Amino acid sequence: MVQTIDYDLLIVGSGLAGLRAGIEAARVNRTMKIAVISKVQVMRSHSVSAEGGTAEDLFPEEGDTIESHIYDTVKGSDFLADQDVAERLCNEMPHEIYQLEHWGMPWSRRKDGRIGQRNFGGYSYPRVTYASDKVGFFEMQTLYDTCQKFDNIEYLNEWYVTSIIHDGQTFMGVTAIELSNGTFYAIRAKALIIATGGAGRIYSYSTYALSSTPDGIDMAYRAGLALKDMEFVQFHPTGILPSGILITEGARGEGAYLLNKDNERFMKKYAASKMELAPRDIVSRAIMSEIKEGRGFTHETGVSCMQLDLRHIGDSVIKEKLGAIREISLKFSGINPSQEPLEVRPVCHYMMGGIHSNIDGATELQGVWTAGEASCNSTHGSNRLGANSTSECLVWGKITGKSAAEYIEKGVPAKQWPHNLVANEEKRIYDGIFRGSGDVNPYEIRQQLTDTLNDKAYVYRNGNDLIQGLKHIRELYKETWKHVDDSAKEYNTNFVHVMELDSMFRVAEVVLLGAINRKESRGAHARTDYPSRDDANFLHHTLAYYNPADEPLMKKHPVTITTYQPVERKY
Ligand SMILES: Cc1cc2nc3c(=O)[nH]c(=O)nc-3n(C[C@H](O)[C@H](O)[C@H](O)COP(=O)(O)OP(=O)(O)OC[C@H]3O[C@@H](n4cnc5c(N)ncnc54)[C@H](O)[C@@H]3O)c2cc1C
Repeated sequence: MVQTIDYDLLIVGSGLAGLRAGIEAARVNRTMKIAVISKVQVMRSHSVSAEGGTAEDLFPEEGDTIESHIYDTVKGSDFLADQDVAERLCNEMPHEIYQLEHWGMPWSRRKDGRIGQRNFGGYSYPRVTYASDKVGFFEMQTLYDTCQKFDNIEYLNEWYVTSIIHDGQTFMGVTAIELSNGTFYAIRAKALIIATGGAGRIYSYSTYALSSTPDGIDMAYRAGLALKDMEFVQFHPTGILPSGILITEGARGEGAYLLNKDNERFMKKYAASKMELAPRDIVSRAIMSEIKEGRGFTHETGVSCMQLDLRHIGDSVIKEKLGAIREISLKFSGINPSQEPLEVRPVCHYMMGGIHSNIDGATELQGVWTAGEASCNSTHGSNRLGANSTSECLVWGKITGKSAAEYIEKGVPAKQWPHNLVANEEKRIYDGIFRGSGDVNPYEIRQQLTDTLNDKAYVYRNGNDLIQGLKHIRELYKETWKHVDDSAKEYNTNFVHVMELDSMFRVAEVVLLGAINRKESRGAHARTDYPSRDDANFLHHTLAYYNPADEPLMKKHPVTITTYQPVERKY
């Protein structure tokens, strides 16, 4: 018999979005039983690695405006952002910065003591608030400390959630495995917030934590919720070679140059007014074009790259404002950025797509909200501006925490618990995966899957490559990799790995199908066979619904345009 436990509100994910949601729900009601569930320890959530900063208009008296933040976000999105959502982000963010300040966030400061801001790509004003280059770590620590004030938040750390239980209309609970002892649980609850982060580990060259696999996005998909705009994957221009670890845009915000083999600041040809601080899609494409035209460097691993030169910024500024970058460069590439240029190339960094939600973070299933990178309320459209993700996590963490708690307070009628659905999930996990058989190595299959995405759906794409990529991952899926050779109950990472791989396949299929169908170039989705944006046919979001018997069901969803009619995007 499966063990069952009860809560009022479940928050799956203990990153910035999940913790911010937990605080807000607990503020609404201090007796409601809230569980924050995470497959890793709270402070191992991927959010701790956010580096450069968080965007908002903090100093209107000095010339920045909320309107300018909204317009930059919409233009950066290549006009696919829902404009009402972008407006909400930018209107609510200044408050969040001061809220964090009051909770103890150690923001970097100007000489006069006021909160410091730096420049980032695609903005008309230096509006990125930062904490050296460790903004995620400090924001996470501040939120986690604040969570400790609430006795009604419990943490189920190192629990792996496998599925959402519902009756077709309403959320009822989830199933999960306690990783320390292997026990499978059913967790009943009245509401759920999915804050499971991005899925960038479906690419092999990636800035993400190893845990950033799409299991949360996939459990929503399997539960019948649509995935939105998954074809839009952000490639950050500056992943350091050979690891792909991020060199924050804050480095260029502090003045770093991108150089080609001719020692030329090549961005002048691609975005003369913004140079290195053009939006990421444009800078990544510029790097790949320079490489294609023979002006790249060759890294010792044989990979083509560009140089990122920080030398002129000076050792003391680098140590003060870019200390983490300095350490990463020294430890992972053996380069001191004050003395030598870094070698970088575009790297998978962010998923604009995610679980389809509305402006309140509500999904199509009653009682389920989603926030942070797992969600797609379409703040970012087809290309996110840097520093707008931590902002989104904070704003929609707060909104969904409040909404879910108020929903529970209104009273959620109890329903008959569907033991059969829990039993089906137990069978899927244990008979289908844990006790599965086969002689194909799942680790090798995972490598092949992620390499395929890298090769076929990178910065520049084309129909042939995408179709080949889809065909290849479907063939890989049919191989006999679904088995777990380690039979341990305690911390069975082999089991986790294979469950994650299972999710990666379904979500990778949606990424590729969405990219095949979108026969235009918009934001981060650049097709060499369709090089122009095509508003007449493609100014819409993509929705994908799971269809176990066949291909995903693909639909279109309208874009909300409130103020800014799409125009050609120039920088
Ligand atoms: C290196 C790097 C630097 C970045 N820097 C910036 C920056 O400076 N500014 C900015 O705005 N953005 C930045 N970003 C993006 C930003 O960090 C992320 O988009 C954001 O932190 C995501 O937060 P989240 O709360 O949505 O999810 P995450 O922090 O990714 O947390 C996901 C949570 O879900 C849990 N989870 C997942 N699956 C399961 C499961 N099956 N069962 C249980 N738990 C599960 C995980 O354990 C984790 O707790 C950066 C990204 C990277 C990769």
